[in-house]
Amino acid sequence: TGSGLIVSFGEMLIDFVPTVSGVSLAEAPGFVKAPGGAPANVAIAVSRLGGKASFVGKLGDDEFGRMLAGILEQYGVDGRGINFDQGARTALAFVTLRNDGEREFMFYRNPSADMLLRPDELNVELIRSAKVFHYGSISLIVEPCRSAHLKAMEVARDAGALLSYDPNLRLPLWPSPEEAREQIMSIWDKADVIKVSDVELEFLTKSDKIDDASALSLWHPNLKLLLVTLGDHGCRYYTKNFHGAVEAFHVKTVDTTGAGDAFVGALLCKVVDDQSILEDEARLRSVLKFANACGAITTTKKGAIPALPTEAEVVTLLKA
Ligand code: ADP
Repeated sequence: TGSGLIVSFGEMLIDFVPTVSGVSLAEAPGFVKAPGGAPANVAIAVSRLGGKASFVGKLGDDEFGRMLAGILEQYGVDGRGINFDQGARTALAFVTLRNDGEREFMFYRNPSADMLLRPDELNVELIRSAKVFHYGSISLIVEPCRSAHLKAMEVARDAGALLSYDPNLRLPLWPSPEEAREQIMSIWDKADVIKVSDVELEFLTKSDKIDDASALSLWHPNLKLLLVTLGDHGCRYYTKNFHGAVEAFHVKTVDTTGAGDAFVGALLCKVVDDQSILEDEARLRSVLKFANACGAITTTKKGAIPALPTEAEVVTLLKA
C-alpha cells in the first residue's frame, strides 16, 4: 500500500435500510442507519488498507453530519477537506430491495448540504497535495457543487495528481437518462483512470453488449486505464497497449454494497506511489487481482463501510 495522499471528492450520506429484508419502504417496521456514499466509501477503503486518504465534501451541521465526520475520523480518514453547511441538512436515503427484486429509493436532497459545497470553500492546499484525486459525485449536476467539483479536479490536475473517475450512476437522482449521460460524458476526458460497472457500460453506450468493442467505444485519447467491473465475473481492463480480464474470487456473498468502492480504493492504493504499474500488464493484473479480492471480501458482510477489508484480510484471501 502506497504512502501518497489519495483525495476522494463527493458526498457522504446515510442510507436507512429496513430492519427486515424484502419489504417495501412503506411496509418497513423500522430502519437501521448504514453510512455510505461512494466517494466516502473509497476514502475509507483506502484507509482500511493502510493508505493515506482525505475526504472532501460537505455535511450538514446536524446530528447526522457529526456522526458521519466521526466515522471518517474513526477509520483514519483525514477530515481537513470537510465543510459543514450551517443551513442545509445531511443527505439521507431510504433504500430497500423488495421481494420482487426491485430496488426502491427515497432521497432527502432538497437540497442537502453536500449539494451546496461552493468552490471558494474548497481546501485547495489539501487538494494540491494529492497524488491521486478520485471523483464521481452524484451531485455533479447541481450548483454550486458542480463548480466545486470542476474546480477541485482542475486544482488536482494542475498539481500533477492522477485523476480517477467513477460515474456512480444512480439513475433515480437524475432528471432524465439523457441528462445523466451528457453530464457524465462532460467530465469523461479529464480522467486518467475510469472505472465503470457493467450496468454503467450498457447505459453509457446505449447497448446491452458488454464486450471489448463497447468498452473501447468509451476510450478517450488521454486515458491510461479503463476498468469494467462485472460483479462475480471479476473485471476487464483496457490500456493503450493491452487489454484483458481478471477473474473474481469465489466467496459467500451476502450484500454487494460497496464492492465497487472497495475495488477502486484497492487499485488506487497500489498505483498512488507507482503509476508505471499502468503500463506493465503483469503488474497491473496482480494489482487487479488484489482489487478483486478486496471487492469480494466486501460482499461477504452486510453494509459497505463495516465490510471493507484490511490489507491482511485481502492477503489471506489471496493465499487461500
Ligand atoms: P459495482 O459495485 O461498482 O457495481 P461490482 O459489483 O462489479 O462493482 O464489484 C466490484 C468488484 O468486486 C468486482 O469486479 C469483483 O471483483 C468484486 N465482486 C463484486 N461482487 C462479487 C461477488 N458476488 N463475488 C465475488 N466478487 C465480487
